[in-house]
Amino acid sequence: MNRARRSMFAGCLTLLVAVTAMTGFSQPAQTDPRPLPGEQPAATSPAEPGAPTLPRAPAADQPPQPAPTPDPLPANLPFDLEHRLAELRPGNPEGYLRLGEDVAAAATDNLGRGLARRLYTLAFVLDRRRANTSVWPTATSACLALAELATTQADRQWLEALARSIDRRLAVPEWTTAAQDPVDSATAYLATVFVGLVRSGDTIRAERVLAQPGVRDVIRRYERLLSPYNQPGGLAELEREMTRWPCPECAGKRVVRRFQSNPPQFRLCSVCRGTLGPDLSPQTLSAQLRFESRLLAGTARSWAAQVISDDGAPLRDVDPGELPGAMGVDPSLVIWRDGRWVGEEPSKP
Ligand SMILES: [Zn+2]
Repeated sequence: MNRARRSMFAGCLTLLVAVTAMTGFSQPAQTDPRPLPGEQPAATSPAEPGAPTLPRAPAADQPPQPAPTPDPLPANLPFDLEHRLAELRPGNPEGYLRLGEDVAAAATDNLGRGLARRLYTLAFVLDRRRANTSVWPTATSACLALAELATTQADRQWLEALARSIDRRLAVPEWTTAAQDPVDSATAYLATVFVGLVRSGDTIRAERVLAQPGVRDVIRRYERLLSPYNQPGGLAELEREMTRWPCPECAGKRVVRRFQSNPPQFRLCSVCRGTLGPDLSPQTLSAQLRFESRLLAGTARSWAAQVISDDGAPLRDVDPGELPGAMGVDPSLVIWRDGRWVGEEPSKP
């Protein structure tokens, strides 16, 4: 009796679960988030950091572009340009670089230089797309070739910096980096604090910081950075300044009490004029900020030091992804077909 009731209850429960499961599964099947045919999946393959983000080629079922106009080509080149353009393949970025060099060498007008610039840019983009490598010799060469074509000094410097950033072999050997024996970050931080305290005339605290173990050694090792002319003697100069501070007149209070005033009246200190710390030239201040920036590099970058060091010129990120935009080149149009640049066939998985 009891057992029969229990088995009946179990049967009802099974039926209920089955019905729920059927209806439950039938509903979300219609809102399946899988992409419809022709639709791009939401997440593409994980892009390598710093690589240019390339727009996907248009899907096959999209209507064809109306009335394709041929891209103009420079004339009077000493080789069959059309033929060589048609031979270019995205899997071979070196081909773009070589043709770019030939075009640049023979170009006599803006059309030719523009084509060379496009070919270099595509060589850069395509070489950077190669996976499983940390060196991009073709991209580096393309970047330096673009620097040669640059019309302004700022563009040339930016392109050279970009080439250095992707190829460490081109990096300027800097004695200042002292990579063989890194300074520990706490001592480096104290060294920068010391320079800041001297700058603000707070010699009492500066002396205390300088007495910490290792701080003096770090400053001496990097002291050339404190000089606008990379001269030694920066620490001695700071210690010389320390003897002049705090202000002998106001003792760092910036104001002094007027003689026999009651209630007390104060006037600006006539010795320091309310500005504590040494009177620094812009070059010396810039050098000090450079010193601080270098010692703090890796944990924090001082944008102020950057701005001062390049005279407040607009900063441009040395970002490889910026290159196609800066060159005015669409990085997705990599194939020359029927007189114009087109995207790759969407046959790739
Ligand atoms: Zn004073």
